[in-house]
Amino acid sequence: MTASVLDNPKAKAPAPLIDSFGRTVTYLRLSVTDRCDLRCTYCMSEKMTFLPKSDLLDAAELEEVARRFIARGVTKIRVTGGEPLVRRNILDIMTRLSKYLGKGLQELTLTTNGTQLAKHAEDLARLGVRRINVSLDSVNPETFARITRGGKLEQVLDGIAAAQSHGLKIKLNVVVLKNDNAAEIPSLIGWAHRRDIDVTLIEAMPLGEIEADRFDQYIPLSEIRADLERRFTLTPDTYRTGGPSQYWQVTETGGRIGFITPLSNNFCAGCNRVRLTCTGKLFLCLGQNDDADLRAVLRSGGDLDAALTEAMTRKPKAHDFLIDAPGKAPAVARHMSMTGG
Ligand code: SAM
Repeated sequence: MTASVLDNPKAKAPAPLIDSFGRTVTYLRLSVTDRCDLRCTYCMSEKMTFLPKSDLLDAAELEEVARRFIARGVTKIRVTGGEPLVRRNILDIMTRLSKYLGKGLQELTLTTNGTQLAKHAEDLARLGVRRINVSLDSVNPETFARITRGGKLEQVLDGIAAAQSHGLKIKLNVVVLKNDNAAEIPSLIGWAHRRDIDVTLIEAMPLGEIEADRFDQYIPLSEIRADLERRFTLTPDTYRTGGPSQYWQVTETGGRIGFITPLSNNFCAGCNRVRLTCTGKLFLCLGQNDDADLRAVLRSGGDLDAALTEAMTRKPKAHDFLIDAPGKAPAVARHMSMTGG
């Protein structure tokens, strides 16, 4: 392994990752598995087939890729999946990544469905994780079971409570589905804000084949915001997390709501991120197909730095998601669980 600026702070810093549109990549989403213990209707098909474990990057390979990204200026890593907490050696992976906190890496965080959080919250807090995104689309047990195809809400609520008891700040990510949870959003926000949890609402994106028609699921968040504005006083908030969310303060609850609108209001101009799948494919854009096979580079002893530099020249300007009619094919064939959500 070559010495780098991470080992020797006086070494010349390698070039930052800047794409051909002048955007600097500082944020890596690192998927550690494509498997998940839930089957959310908008995310996966009911009968998903998963990759053989031998295809996955091992913990040392994940660390090596992360290390190169950090040396090139990545300051934030979000571990994701699939469901990251179902990977058996997740604590080994988190331990390896946490070594870079304060050495280039400013934030190590995680996106989870929360089902395994009660088991892992204490270790995550010990390893320097401070904030966690929990994906939770309903706090009604029946709606939750329907959307997740059999998930147990209690398990997630226990996980959230455990995480909060260990000092982890929680944000809820909520995909809004026209006929499933759209009507529950005001009460879900009330539930979360009473527990000091911010909420980010997300539009359903056309990623991968599922049983349902995306057209029946998709609702533009402008409609949800109009409904919320009839119930609450919303004021724009300048708060930013480095992500695409636009935030609003809710006067009545004292909490915050974020809106992620990949379809109704494309946010690609400020994109600062890339995504590595659990098999080492680097996707430059969630909604486009171009990738760089970093596993091949790693396993052939190739030049990872050169591969990153080359990949950056191919980062697309924008995705082109569109759900404007029934029966449309997805924008990309990969499910979100494959790319890393
Ligand atoms: N299992 C983890 C979780 O639940 O957060 C991480 C992976 S999951 C794929 C990441 C996020 O992607 C979740 O918030 C999920 O709701 C969201 N997601 C999955 N498919 C989506 C889609 N088609 N459109 C919008 N969001 C989606």
